Amino acid sequence: MKITAALVPEKGASFVLRDLTLADPVGDEIRVRVVACGICHTDVSSRDQVYGTPMPAVLGHEGAGVVEAVGPKVKAIKPGDHVLMSFDSCGNCPSCRDGQIAYCWHHMEMNFSGFRYSGTAWDVPSPISMAVDGVETPVAGAFFGQSSFATHAICSERNAVVVDKDLPLEVLAPLGCGMQTGAGAVLNTLNPAPGSSFAITGAGTVGMAAIMAAKIAGCAPIIAIDMSADRLKLALELGATHAINPADGDIVQAVKAILPAGVQYSIETTAHPAVFRAAVDMLQVRGICGLIGGAKLGTEASFEMTHILFGRTIRGILQGDSVPKSFLPRLIGLYRSGRFPIERLETRYRLDQINEAIADMKSGKTIKPVLMTGSQP
Ligand SMILES: [Zn+2]
Ligand SMILES: [Zn+2]
Repeated sequence: MKITAALVPEKGASFVLRDLTLADPVGDEIRVRVVACGICHTDVSSRDQVYGTPMPAVLGHEGAGVVEAVGPKVKAIKPGDHVLMSFDSCGNCPSCRDGQIAYCWHHMEMNFSGFRYSGTAWDVPSPISMAVDGVETPVAGAFFGQSSFATHAICSERNAVVVDKDLPLEVLAPLGCGMQTGAGAVLNTLNPAPGSSFAITGAGTVGMAAIMAAKIAGCAPIIAIDMSADRLKLALELGATHAINPADGDIVQAVKAILPAGVQYSIETTAHPAVFRAAVDMLQVRGICGLIGGAKLGTEASFEMTHILFGRTIRGILQGDSVPKSFLPRLIGLYRSGRFPIERLETRYRLDQINEAIADMKSGKTIKPVLMTGSQP
């Protein structure tokens, strides 16, 4: 069928709306009429080919929509179901067999190659193609197993989560990556006891989700660290008890002015080596720093060895250690109860405003842009 998608023609280029062809779902795939899709920093770094996704490509990995058709091997999802799409995993590697699907041994291939996983038998590498001189030519159209910056997407039963039909898909779309990443790092990975001290470097989508989750977990104090006074103000409204702006001086000293021994837990979302170092330096003895920020491949950070020796842990965390089929319903329950007000982070844009949305995200004007992909003619 014909679809409209935001295509990246080449590395670093602006997105352009193009009419493309979407194949029918095969095997365990489903076709989703995309209603909304959040924009994540990973879409921007993938546009810039930081992780090697080939161009031209249809990106987008926080899609939400309505199932229109299912492949012959689909078991539990049916047309008409409302779904959130999340990251993809193979289901068969040692991590997947352990239930740690965010650490699928084929994570990069399945989510960033832009093509269907080669371990399956599909003879067409991508469900999306475009006409080049009259010949249908595949484009990278399986980004995170969805490529959902489009009116329609092919996803699989593995990485789709069915949700109740009364829920607003345009609000919930970002649960599938950014929100579960921040909230999962707290609720799944670190799982702090009530009263634990917590600091978060970077108050973007992931940091704010972590702040809300730290409040849900009963942490105190919760220290938000960000360069933006507006974001710090919102962080205080969403659950932070203290706010630190690096413009006011050294952030480790500022944390120690609140807690002289340092924090039990820190979460690093900025991907800057100096901030990562600070997030480790602010830990108390036996403290744990969760690293979430995705740096460019090859980025290095250094640490003081004796500091680490005192029982401190640095833990890399992908996708908040989430198993979306069980964790997203938990987050939706928290959203319904008003304890996870993700709508306060979101600003909506039309699909044709995607470049403007990204500019607003980069400038800090918008925390989480959500594209209304279904509003296209
Ligand atoms: Zn993402
Ligand atoms: Zn796997």
